[in-house]
Amino acid sequence: MTLTRSRATSLACILFLLLLTALSVQAVQPPSPQDADSPAGEFSAERAFATVEAVGGEVHPHGTAANDGVRAWITGELERLGLEPEEVDGVGMSGRLGDQSRVAATTNVVATIPGSDSTGPVFLMAHYDSAEVSYGGNDDGAGVATLLETARALGEGEQLRNDVVLVFTDAEEACLCGAEAFAHADPRAADGGVVVNVEARGSAGPAIMFETSDGNAALVDAYAQVPKPVGSSLGVEVYRILPNDTDFSPFLDDPAERFTGLNSAYIDGSATYHSPLDTPDRMSLASLQHHGSSALALVRELGAGDVSVLAEPSSSDATYFTLPGGLLARYPGWLVWPLALGALAAVGALGVLLARRRAIRGVPTTAGRLVLGFVSGLVPLAGAVLASMALWWLMVAVRPGYDEMLDPWRPWGFRVALLGLVATVGAGWFVGLRRSLGPVALSYGALAWLAVLGLVLAAFAPGGSYLAALPALAGAVAGLVVVVRTRGRTGGLSARRVVATLGAAVAVVVLAPVVVLFFPALGLATGAAPALVAMLLVLALTPVVAVLLPRRRLAGRILLGGCGALTVVALVTGFVVDRFDAEHPEPTRLAYVLDADTGEARWVSDEATPADWTARYADTETDLSAAFPMFGDPVWSGESDAADLPAPRAEVTRDETAGDERTVTLAVTPGEGASVGTAGALRYVQLNADAVTSATVAGREVPVDGTTLDTRYYAPDADGFEVVVTLPADDELELRLVAAGGGLEDLPGFEPRPAGVGVAGSHTSELVLVGTTVTL
Ligand SMILES: [Zn+2]
Repeated sequence: MTLTRSRATSLACILFLLLLTALSVQAVQPPSPQDADSPAGEFSAERAFATVEAVGGEVHPHGTAANDGVRAWITGELERLGLEPEEVDGVGMSGRLGDQSRVAATTNVVATIPGSDSTGPVFLMAHYDSAEVSYGGNDDGAGVATLLETARALGEGEQLRNDVVLVFTDAEEACLCGAEAFAHADPRAADGGVVVNVEARGSAGPAIMFETSDGNAALVDAYAQVPKPVGSSLGVEVYRILPNDTDFSPFLDDPAERFTGLNSAYIDGSATYHSPLDTPDRMSLASLQHHGSSALALVRELGAGDVSVLAEPSSSDATYFTLPGGLLARYPGWLVWPLALGALAAVGALGVLLARRRAIRGVPTTAGRLVLGFVSGLVPLAGAVLASMALWWLMVAVRPGYDEMLDPWRPWGFRVALLGLVATVGAGWFVGLRRSLGPVALSYGALAWLAVLGLVLAAFAPGGSYLAALPALAGAVAGLVVVVRTRGRTGGLSARRVVATLGAAVAVVVLAPVVVLFFPALGLATGAAPALVAMLLVLALTPVVAVLLPRRRLAGRILLGGCGALTVVALVTGFVVDRFDAEHPEPTRLAYVLDADTGEARWVSDEATPADWTARYADTETDLSAAFPMFGDPVWSGESDAADLPAPRAEVTRDETAGDERTVTLAVTPGEGASVGTAGALRYVQLNADAVTSATVAGREVPVDGTTLDTRYYAPDADGFEVVVTLPADDELELRLVAAGGGLEDLPGFEPRPAGVGVAGSHTSELVLVGTTVTL
């Protein structure tokens, strides 16, 4: 009778945790797409997809005729909706891309949906240009489609209180210049407001709210009202560390701090990102639906609020995370430290209690054993990181092409393999040490690590502290209940199991969604991040394993063997399912450089190790950084015949010396014919010089690092652009000019890629460069 009841309890506990895991993972999946017959006031992915097809029909980087076509189409659609769109010309400048500044002439499309009694504008923003070699079906056809379908749906409902300003930006991929021009100079942005940016860095997955302005509490409250909020305040912390940028960045950088806002993107399926395969047919309609229904609900929420308040930072960042049932848990930043310290106190109290009891069910729990349990916890934590590195190493060894990817085309097998590997490491630690240290000491060590990490995160990434502190707190409270309740008794096994399971349930709800979101965020190339979060979950589950796993040796072996078998099966499945083929090609990067002064030409690739196809052109490590500063040192290169390509020119239109300062005004033109490569429009002209004290490009002052000028002007037309530099009087100006075009097809010796070999989604793919040095 007892045995049966005990087994039934175990089974119920396991099923409960599995169900909770499934619900937690489901909570961060995108919703089903709505069809074209959905009510007019709702967002329908099927309706919005017509926009995706129009935007992503051609490769359309900034400055191309195709991009002009996309812009005209957007303007037409806005007029069809009864709005009064404006095409706004400007000059945008970005000074945040390393030491390099970038400038572009941009044309944004802006339309205002007037509010009934506006307290300030809500800016809904997406970029309409694509990356150099990309169709931009997802990036950012998804954003443009979200804006247009949202605008249509808003027109069907009651008028909002606030103005909603739709901002379709130009030249995001080049330099975030359209967004910068809008924030810098558009009259509609003059008094600030709340910005909602809509992006895509892949083709699938949930729309994640991953970036916020500082002091995000009020905006997170607004975001919590969307039907399926997906995000974690850990993501906000991680993104602040990463060097990545979107159109949202110029608003965050605004020196007058006029803006607050939220940034969303879907990021899974990153193999298509910026590549020629970012086509409409590869878009997950569920992802588009999630973007759209979130944006529509968020704009309705912000549109009804008081923008004069919302456009000011709240007193703190909120901690927030997705819960099952379309809920967003959130609490203010001031609670982070009390919770982290509370977790530590609870774990400390549990330790004191266990050490005083000296033994639980005959297994010693002395202070020495508890400390050893804690120290041993380093093994699984370090093991998770090493396991993720080993997995990636193995994947690249078997498929060298993975080295150029963030994630494989079909990463699921490998993701499960990494989870299996983490579970194997955790099970190996527990099974291997449970006889010598005892299951209680190991469980205690696991909870103590969670408490310590909760504190570390509270200090360095407060938005992520909940991931460790809440499981530690729940696990320690459960442990205290078990220890106090079972005092003097040897029974109560079922009760112990239930309490331990409830303690671990918190960890499942908190950690499982973040494991799922972290996989695409950093990719398997940086699998250490999801592996570590998964290991936190394994540690938090240790007390449950300790009370559920039978003491027999065989039970431990079965657990370990099961985790190992899962890893192997998933890994083999990953390799079988994900092979390079015509639809899922191996990404390669090739560029061509011509030094117009020497007539020397080379093929160049900045792949880490050149793929077989690339190595036919570029197989020698070379330092080209002096002549072509866009390439780091070293890159792969190989000799080529010189093509007949026009070099850029810089003509002095004015040269004045006043006191000890010389000011040179230059007309920089792309050169005869203006085209470099088969892609038509130039990507940019880059200027590098030393001994410069200040510089202006196309009327915008650009930062000079010390005396080094490193700047680009994007997509110049045949008339070129004006550059003004100042330098010490009597100094010579030595200017390196490089014109960058795209498209290798007509170059001598180039043969098209075979099926299964593709173009990598990078800013140096298919690049054609012509460089010359001018001394003035
Ligand atoms: Zn984008």
